Amino acid sequence: MPVKMVKNEVAVGIDLGTTYSCVGVWQNDRVEIIANDQGNRTTPSYVAFTDTERFIGNAARNQSALNPVNTVFDAKRLIGRRFSDSTVQNDMMLWPFKVVGDNGNKPKIVVNYKGVERRFSPEELSSMVLLKMKEIAEEYLGKKVKDAVVTVPAHFNDSQRQATKDAATIAGLNVLRLLVEPTAAAVAYGLDKNLTSGMKGEKTVLIFDLGGGTFDVSLLKIKRDNIEVLATAGDTHLGGEDFDNRLLDHFVKEFTRKYGKDISRNAKSLRRLRNECEKVKRILSHNATTTIDIDSLYEGIDYSTKITRARFEELNLDLFKSCLDTVGKCLEDAEMDQSRVHDVVLVGGSTRIPKVQQLLQQFFEGKELCKNINPDEAVAYGAAVQAATLSGEGHQKIKNLVLLDVTPLSLGIAVEGQLMAVIIPRNSTIPTSMQKLFCTSRDDQKSVKISVYEGERTRTEDNNLLGEFALYGLPPGPRRQVKISVTFKIDSNGVLHVYAENRVKGLRSSIEIKKSGTLTATEIERMIRDAEQFKVEDEKFRRKIRAMQASEDYVYNTRNNTVGNYSLNASVKKMLRILSRRLLCG
Ligand code: AMP
Repeated sequence: MPVKMVKNEVAVGIDLGTTYSCVGVWQNDRVEIIANDQGNRTTPSYVAFTDTERFIGNAARNQSALNPVNTVFDAKRLIGRRFSDSTVQNDMMLWPFKVVGDNGNKPKIVVNYKGVERRFSPEELSSMVLLKMKEIAEEYLGKKVKDAVVTVPAHFNDSQRQATKDAATIAGLNVLRLLVEPTAAAVAYGLDKNLTSGMKGEKTVLIFDLGGGTFDVSLLKIKRDNIEVLATAGDTHLGGEDFDNRLLDHFVKEFTRKYGKDISRNAKSLRRLRNECEKVKRILSHNATTTIDIDSLYEGIDYSTKITRARFEELNLDLFKSCLDTVGKCLEDAEMDQSRVHDVVLVGGSTRIPKVQQLLQQFFEGKELCKNINPDEAVAYGAAVQAATLSGEGHQKIKNLVLLDVTPLSLGIAVEGQLMAVIIPRNSTIPTSMQKLFCTSRDDQKSVKISVYEGERTRTEDNNLLGEFALYGLPPGPRRQVKISVTFKIDSNGVLHVYAENRVKGLRSSIEIKKSGTLTATEIERMIRDAEQFKVEDEKFRRKIRAMQASEDYVYNTRNNTVGNYSLNASVKKMLRILSRRLLCG
């Protein structure tokens, strides 16, 4: 009789979101989205530091109003970017926590942890969120989680993807594959429609993903076992947080009007009000009107007010409309008319906003939108399916699924005049390998420098430099006669390898591009060690608290059972104090 092996390790799919993250696993022939210790199926991508403890997820977000400068969120907006990036500089103005640049122009988040100033890279902070998601899965499954498929936005460039991989490594995860979010959603969608088993012909599907901080539109071609991204467009700075900010701005102004006081410089009041704004926004997706009630918001003033859905829509209409411009751009890039789109799929929590749905439906001439996938979970769902497939756990119906992503930006090299010679055009399906022939620009040129760029601008100085290398020992010859072939190869994780060759002389040189914003192996090792140490410290602290609570419970129960009333006498109080002190000091 065959013995069925029970594996002690399992692969999961993780949607590492800007504001929320979600983890799923393939079990019993279906995807299960795993709830966290609070019973929530998505977990805030927040990390907080205090004098005694580190919090991740709900616990971090819940204390954000009391500890705004040490509560970090939006690490996904920093990951893989340079400190001097204009987006980083602009974002910094909105964050209550401090960000500085290190010597290598990488951003570092400055917090106070256990009374000491600490500087964390975005990779480390994202790794903490990933670690939390790993633990949520391990707790539920009762098994170790090592392998994972982690999702990234379609517009993430090479260094952002690599940095996300580094974050997973620091969290102790082996990334089976980085998967772009719309493709993950499409997998969920494909399964939902039983696409891989029954459907004939091909379908064009538009994924409209409006999350907490980012907006992505992707046009996909789904054909039996293939899901191919035809085009992507998006806005890295559009999402639920912007709608919250519009509400926040509205209430701050109203507060000034009503009470003659400006709360805009008080981080704590703003954080409390912002949290309420998010709740209000969610309620307005169901109700036509709602209220805000915050005790002692500022200088002892209780703030109580009303807002209607119509006013919320008015405050955000330009943002909602800009989503449609992006949809139009994506269709244009793919040379596709909206009437040829078979399905429009909603992904991301912000697609629950009725006005967004209404405008989108109008844009697609009244087409019914696909809402049958839970918008918060679709990406993690698809990632879990892919994780199962890659680890050999998947169901027959997903075994043959082939996922094809695209390059978010064009990739090329600098040629004479510092012009960009594109080798892999934007929106090319990956994995891919493309080659172009170049020639020398001087007589008897001995070497050639290859500068690799990404971007859409004609002049390389306006694009993003990814790395440089050289090919030495070229054979002598007149200018334009000596040929150099340059190959760009992108693997299935979206990582770029560049080779330069002179076939006549059998020369070859290649590059492991040192991507800006990513970490060296030594840095990663150090961060893994730190992560382990933080985990041990967190656990030690948690054990202390649990022990203290258990002892307190014991003393209270004993006293209640013997004395039978709830007021503590002085000796019991003293005993509790001594006990607590001892336990907290270890
Ligand atoms: P995601 O990144 O996809 O998890 O989306 C999170 C965003 O969706 C946050 O900004 C939430 O405030 C927002 N969101 C979730 N539920 C709703 C809702 N019912 N109405 C409006 N926005 C929502």
